[in-house]
Amino acid sequence: MIVFNRATYNGNESKYVNEVLAGGHTHGDGVFTKRSQEFLEKRYGFLKTFLTTSCSDALELAALLCDLKPGDEVIVPSFTFVSTANAFLLRGAKLVFCDSMIDNPNMDVGHVAKLITPKTKVIAVMHYAGIGCDMDAIMKLAAENNLLVVEDAAQCMDAYYNGKALGSIGHMGAFSFHSTKNITTGEGGFISINDERFAKRAEIIREKGTNRASFFRGEVDKYGWVEMGSSFLPSDIIGAVLYGQLEQINQLQKRRMQIWNSYNNAFASFDQSEKIKRMHVPANAQHNAHMYYLLFQNLEQRSSYIQFMKENEVQCSFHYLSLHDSKFFKDQYNGVALPNSDRFSNTLVRLPLHNALTDANVQKVCELTVSFHQSI
Ligand SMILES: *Cc1c(COP(=O)(O)O)cnc(C)c1O
Repeated sequence: MIVFNRATYNGNESKYVNEVLAGGHTHGDGVFTKRSQEFLEKRYGFLKTFLTTSCSDALELAALLCDLKPGDEVIVPSFTFVSTANAFLLRGAKLVFCDSMIDNPNMDVGHVAKLITPKTKVIAVMHYAGIGCDMDAIMKLAAENNLLVVEDAAQCMDAYYNGKALGSIGHMGAFSFHSTKNITTGEGGFISINDERFAKRAEIIREKGTNRASFFRGEVDKYGWVEMGSSFLPSDIIGAVLYGQLEQINQLQKRRMQIWNSYNNAFASFDQSEKIKRMHVPANAQHNAHMYYLLFQNLEQRSSYIQFMKENEVQCSFHYLSLHDSKFFKDQYNGVALPNSDRFSNTLVRLPLHNALTDANVQKVCELTVSFHQSI
């Protein structure tokens, strides 16, 4: 079976974990957490980073930093993971769902502009497949309307928009190290802070609302409760796995990119008909080969492709189902149609893309997909 995803840990991950266990500082903010944060800040130009236990937690931390009041509105995409929406809902905000673009699952900025009201406080963007949303337009809209921008950059390690790292453009960003992502610690993530106003508070909220970090730096002579917070920091065991992964990032990315290019080249002839569409990468995106997806004409055709691949021992997977139409949210929704989000829900399929794939595996996926294309 060629599996859809498989995490690999072939570097110094276990060596570093053993060092942490032997050293006894297993709680958060140890040596490997700090090394990883420095690595991320330096490589990607974030003002500040803090490791978190997940991207969902990084988003919840971001939502706390936004200081939302009941009735405040947050614009979120419908085609996204539930965490983008949950983080703001947990703060009592009103979710305002935005549609995807026609040729790409990312938010349609023209639609965002129409959704802004005097109550809007935040635009939460999600960059699908490591391909950046139109951030120049989003940041302009945000500046004109005095809004904060939170980037759900869960899929965006090592991905850029016009040369800028995703997650470094909005006021803050949230990344994931879940085992399905390019760099992984099993569960894990971090928040990137790009605006000085939020750096200190992020550190405090992440440490249960205390100024513990300032205390350990010798800036205050005792530490205590200074604001509302939670516990979002991972143990240094996670930091150790992460640093072992980050050391290999160039190799891991190079291999992912090779696989991505093999798929994209094998399916180039699909462009001559409308039967199956290759994923679209805009000119301003330097993506990270997080994902390779194809778009089918309809749900039936997509289901038969997934079934065909399964019969041939290849796992392929569809993705998000529009949140506005979910079991949980449907009854609260105002009923405005979001046709592009629904179309991606019904027609998108992701192919296996991970570092445990062999060249023969990739070739098999390509050959099967090309033969399916010929059969329809
Ligand atoms: C993976 C993912 C998340 C959640 O990440 P966790 O680390 O599992 O919390 C959130 N948003 C998007 C877009 C994702 O792809």
